[in-house]
Amino acid sequence: MFRRSRPTHDVEVIATAPLTSTLLRITLGGPTLSRLGIEHPTQWVKLAIPEGPSRAYTVRHHRPAACEVDIDVVLHGNGPAARWASVARPGDRARIAGPRGRRPDVDGAGRLLLAADESALPAALTILDQLPTTVSVFAWFEIAEDGDALPLATRAELTTHWLPRGGSHPKGRLLTDALLATDVPADSAAWIAGEATAVGTVRRHLLTDRALPRDRVHAKGYWKHGEADHQG
Ligand SMILES: Cc1cc2nc3c(=O)[nH]c(=O)nc-3n(C[C@H](O)[C@H](O)[C@H](O)COP(=O)(O)OP(=O)(O)OC[C@H]3O[C@@H](n4cnc5c(N)ncnc54)[C@H](O)[C@@H]3O)c2cc1C
Repeated sequence: MFRRSRPTHDVEVIATAPLTSTLLRITLGGPTLSRLGIEHPTQWVKLAIPEGPSRAYTVRHHRPAACEVDIDVVLHGNGPAARWASVARPGDRARIAGPRGRRPDVDGAGRLLLAADESALPAALTILDQLPTTVSVFAWFEIAEDGDALPLATRAELTTHWLPRGGSHPKGRLLTDALLATDVPADSAAWIAGEATAVGTVRRHLLTDRALPRDRVHAKGYWKHGEADHQG
């Protein structure tokens, strides 16, 4: 499929800071980042690591005046991007291209179901950042362990379920089980992202068993067990 080429930006690592046991915040700076043009939640960039492949990462924060972005990277250890991140140091160079990604349309929903694993937690948090006070959000966030729950800030009415795997559940299982068991009022919208098979199962359930309209269910596989560079 033809893809419009996106502006690229030369960047370097400004700082790194662990957020949880599995998420590392990397602040990237570059002279052209003031023009990155982030317009709505969940937008992402392709991060090209030196002499390596490109992978998708959510822009968690963009500070145009400072020419900086924050990306929050899961240190899962199995792929080139995760390995690069785990040893990234200030001054290391990379390139980003973008931004990409559509606006998640949740306008008019009385209730928003938000479900994410660690890879999609940064994107889910960009949604929470911008929600109005009028929506009730029910959020399920699958994390590695208890201590990985992050402080959440939103104007919306929020009920959060943190789902720590605690080393005893395969990634995606807790999220799937929780969403399949929850009530889904007819005026709900849903945004779900994370491991692709889990996301697909939840999406089918919401469309088929819960009869949510297609345009109310935003679901995207951010990665897939056993597959490098999954294109969701
Ligand atoms: C729109 C979008 C936004 C995204 N935003 C973020 C983000 O903000 N932060 C983030 O960390 N990821 C994010 N991702 C997911 C990220 O692009 C993938 O996890 C990517 O595969 C990582 O590349 P890699 O080189 O580390 O591993 P790859 O080379 O792609 O994969 C190597 C192996 O690692 C496994 N793997 C990949 N990702 C994970 C994971 N998260 N946990 C466990 N195993 C994994 C694969 O199954 C494969 O077996 C996003 C994806 C999309 C599509």
